[in-house]
Amino acid sequence: MSTPVTAGTAVERPYEIVVGLEVHVELTTESKIFCSCPTRFGAEPNSQVCPVCLGLPGTLPVLNRRALEQAVRAALALNCRIQPVAKFDRKNYHYPDLVKGYQISQYDLPVGYEGWLEVGDPANPRRIRIRRVHLEEDTGKSLHDQAPGASVVDYNRSGIPLLEIVSEPDIRSAEEARDYLMHLRQVMLYTGVSDARMEEGSLRVDCNVSVRPRGSDVFGTITEIKNLNSFRSVVRAIEYEAQRQWEVLSAGGTLRRETRHWDERREVTVALRRKEEAHDYRYFPDPDLLPVPLPADWVEEIRASLPELPGARRRRYVLDLDLSVRDADTLVGDPGLAGYFEDLLAAGAEARAAASWVLTQVLAWLNAQGAGIDAFPVPPARLARLLRLVDEGTISMTAAKDVFEEMVRTGAEPDAVVEARGLRQISDQAALLEIVDRVLAANPQPVADYRAGRQQALGFLVGQVMKETRGRANPQLVNDLLRQRLSSDG
Ligand code: ADP
Ligand code: MG
Ligand code: ZN
Repeated sequence: MSTPVTAGTAVERPYEIVVGLEVHVELTTESKIFCSCPTRFGAEPNSQVCPVCLGLPGTLPVLNRRALEQAVRAALALNCRIQPVAKFDRKNYHYPDLVKGYQISQYDLPVGYEGWLEVGDPANPRRIRIRRVHLEEDTGKSLHDQAPGASVVDYNRSGIPLLEIVSEPDIRSAEEARDYLMHLRQVMLYTGVSDARMEEGSLRVDCNVSVRPRGSDVFGTITEIKNLNSFRSVVRAIEYEAQRQWEVLSAGGTLRRETRHWDERREVTVALRRKEEAHDYRYFPDPDLLPVPLPADWVEEIRASLPELPGARRRRYVLDLDLSVRDADTLVGDPGLAGYFEDLLAAGAEARAAASWVLTQVLAWLNAQGAGIDAFPVPPARLARLLRLVDEGTISMTAAKDVFEEMVRTGAEPDAVVEARGLRQISDQAALLEIVDRVLAANPQPVADYRAGRQQALGFLVGQVMKETRGRANPQLVNDLLRQRLSSDG
């Protein structure tokens, strides 16, 4: 366990990691799943509760239609099949954050099942199967740092609609788990069903981890690490837990199926309890909630209303537009930024140039301002025009960056800035040749160096010409002209 494990060593490991993830996301409904209490995050503790979500005797739950619709929406976006009815069951257990003594969930008929999500290189993706997507209610939240020597509970969260998304054990590394979560999170954002903020607990992850000797096709004993709340913790916890399991097995020990806790500070997993089995919960249909039919035409309406999903968008960016996987991921990961990029394309910009501008200049400005794309002052059509000026050779890239700065600062049109500042690129051979000759005459040493075989000297001479023209010379042309001159007479 003392050996640090990094992602890069995966190939040399004698064991294979097997992971299945159970992800909970809070839906973005205005009110709770079975009552009309608001779901706002960060409210005064226990200010958003009522007899229904506190489970007082004699109250009756009423299903929030929006929650059901969002669940179907997410399940469809995860390529699931949809159950013809939504049925609710009681999962019975006792815990301070669950006053009712049971949680309303879905047991044998999850709203969505048999879905999948693609991860990895879009040219050669891996499909992680999704076993089920079901709807349930959230519990209250135990707080251990509010009162000295005591734990208190905030019930604002109880009854917030939750979607639980359970993968098959198809994930084969900590990195792949992170990749899966990233894509899953994007699906939640694109479909608008959750804000999926791990730091606010609206996306929570339980990791099931096992290991087996490389080449084996038999699954090992699983441990479940509960409630991880950042991508980083997920990666570290899986790495740690797999290594721990392998060391136990290698020393001739046996593992038990158990639930473990990730100790954020010490970066270790700690045994909590034996893993529960389904029969421990005594699931039974909730007698207060009748099954709700999910008519096929309603489901199809929801399917038709889905936007382009992140997976499809990512594939299109990489395979059709020839962007790098990294650039595609950055764009897709920020729907606002991707929207701006799409607008640039619609305004006629070339894809790779557009992506490069968005991910360098535009993003740098946004980061410096701490602002989102909505606050970016240059409309896409205007930036597309600037890109065209570069593409046509009217201005150099260097000049374009200056123009961009002025456009952001003053809201000016690119053509106006180019004219006002005399930035038109010099592509006139005769004019440039004059300057080239002047530079060559003034720099005998670099000229001699170049002729003696030192290629770097050319860069210096190009730089001098660019300086003379205040960056306006067409760099390719300058290069050609210099080479011509230097290779002819001596
Ligand atoms: P249940 O808890 O209903 O008995 P499982 O234990 O099979 O179901 O599955 C719970 C989660 O554990 C799922 O996300 C599944 O992918 C994952 N899982 C199942 N088997 C393994 C395994 N051998 N290694 C890692 N994860 C597993
Ligand atoms: Mg569960
Ligand atoms: Zn309530």
